[in-house]
Amino acid sequence: MYGKMTCADYGFECNFVIEVNSQDSLEQFGMHMTQIHGIDYPKESLMSSVYPVLCMP
Ligand SMILES: [Zn+2]
Repeated sequence: MYGKMTCADYGFECNFVIEVNSQDSLEQFGMHMTQIHGIDYPKESLMSSVYPVLCMP
């Protein structure tokens, strides 16, 4: 049920891989995107595309 997110999935030549099993991992992925690639990925958008379950209250 849980998955992995990689930068390659988002079109980057980057080996960064993170296991998505919590909101924390999404935040870490977003932080990596911002810090390493200079792209501001809204957490909500990551969540809705990768892990909709977490969006539920
Ligand atoms: Zn990356």
